Amino acid sequence: MQYQFDVIVAGCGVAGLSAAVTAAEQGLTVAVLERTSIEDRGGQSRWTEAYLRMKALDEVSDDFEAHLSENAGPYNDPDFISEMSAERGTWSHGARSLAIPDPDLICTFADAVPATIQWLQRIGVKFEFLPTQFLTKTQPRLLPVGGGAALVEALAQRADALNVTFFYHTTARRLLIDDAGAVSGLLATHKDEGGKRFLGKVVLACGGFEGNPEMLAKYLGPRSVYLRPVCKGGYFNKGEGISMALEIGAGAAGEFGSYHAEPVDPRSGVSEPSVFIFPYGILVNKLGQRFTDEGPGTVDAHYERVTRRIYEQPEGIAYVILDQRVKDIPNYRLALRTDQPAIEADSIEALAQKLAIPAAELQNTIAAYNSACGSGEGYEPLRTDGVATQGLYPPKSNWALPIDRGPYLAYPIISANVFTFGGLKVNGSGQVLDTDGNVIPNLYASGETVGMYYTNYTGATSVLKGLVFGRLAGRHMANA
Ligand SMILES: Cc1cc2nc3c(=O)[nH]c(=O)nc-3n(C[C@H](O)[C@H](O)[C@H](O)COP(=O)(O)OP(=O)(O)OC[C@H]3O[C@@H](n4cnc5c(N)ncnc54)[C@H](O)[C@@H]3O)c2cc1C
Repeated sequence: MQYQFDVIVAGCGVAGLSAAVTAAEQGLTVAVLERTSIEDRGGQSRWTEAYLRMKALDEVSDDFEAHLSENAGPYNDPDFISEMSAERGTWSHGARSLAIPDPDLICTFADAVPATIQWLQRIGVKFEFLPTQFLTKTQPRLLPVGGGAALVEALAQRADALNVTFFYHTTARRLLIDDAGAVSGLLATHKDEGGKRFLGKVVLACGGFEGNPEMLAKYLGPRSVYLRPVCKGGYFNKGEGISMALEIGAGAAGEFGSYHAEPVDPRSGVSEPSVFIFPYGILVNKLGQRFTDEGPGTVDAHYERVTRRIYEQPEGIAYVILDQRVKDIPNYRLALRTDQPAIEADSIEALAQKLAIPAAELQNTIAAYNSACGSGEGYEPLRTDGVATQGLYPPKSNWALPIDRGPYLAYPIISANVFTFGGLKVNGSGQVLDTDGNVIPNLYASGETVGMYYTNYTGATSVLKGLVFGRLAGRHMANA
């Protein structure tokens, strides 16, 4: 079966819907292909609360561009970076094809955020500064009321009103290219009806590869078996958008061997069963040993780095050990999204038995930690207090109180894979670039399918990336 539209969008999350609605608002005919059902559409976007790194409705956070630039890949050749301050047309091959978001792209991203929020307000989305799961934080976070699900519903309703055609249970598989190297459409498969051919410009907005064990092993390595998607929506994203574009010569961007890490309770099947309480206790591995500073700074800015250390431990798991003091922290439950209860015991020995950790080792670890804690004077749980251990390695830099008020509590923690970092290289119009840094005609990408992040995720920017680049692509297709 063959279909012709002006625009074919693969993926019905915020990135795909933003592109579809923008293109349809400009009068283009649009098809959205979605591998799953109408109920499950929205992949990851449906499950997120969608924190947005913004200090006001019309302003991104002060560090938005700086944080993205500082985490745009290590050891970049300084000559290429300095070339990037001149007109793009003058850049060498190395600068054009570097797998990083260039300063211009980051600036375009940040500049487009306020207008994107206003556009969403016009279609009925409300935004507020609501409480988050971070008890200590450095950056403000704006939220859409109703989270990502509200964004998906508002955009899908708008798409319906604009006569966008949705094809559910339809998985995009392969790009079609003409003799001139331009994309002319894509091949997809429907679960009952088999192969379908869609002709038109293509927007790849079908997520990262967090739901594809083969790509995870290939890019993140065999230890990725210890990761799992942070919610059930992640299992739909199997990386076809990225691989089908790489196959026709698209350039890569972002850190293919990495992902956004979040600490979660492996016993829980709820969406995002996070455990952000570790700064108020200690983290031990299966051997009963500490391995990281549990409180290097505010939890919003440091949880990803701590979670990466948990992932490195034997079998990719650690346990936070707490005592009754945690219950004195105002609203401490905000930091616990898991629906599973704490594992409790009256003594450290009994707790170790329940956790299947060598008891003597855990007792020694806690004794060494307790004796490195000072008087606790100046302890303030809701801000970085500098109450640190003395003479202990690894140190604990804040909130270092002894663990001695039983009954004792523990939660197991693994690293969830919130989304993968590796994706396609795009320009400021959302057009996909090839391995030489040139535009692939008629091919666009948005959302997780676009590679941007390295090392340390610039928190609360992934939803914005989908919304903004979808809109940039939709606009460009209409004007081209
Ligand atoms: C629990 C959770 C919390 C998060 N918290 C935040 C946060 O607070 N702030 C933030 O900025 N980001 C957050 N993120 C990340 C952010 O939500 C996602 O990265 C973003 O929503 C991705 O949008 P997307 O449209 O690119 O992908 P998705 O929303 O995943 O949409 C992709 C769609 O494509 C479909 N699909 C996949 N493959 C194909 C195919 N081959 N053909 C057709 N359809 C296909 C999927 O079924 C899905 O519907 C969070 C993510 C999760 C899961």
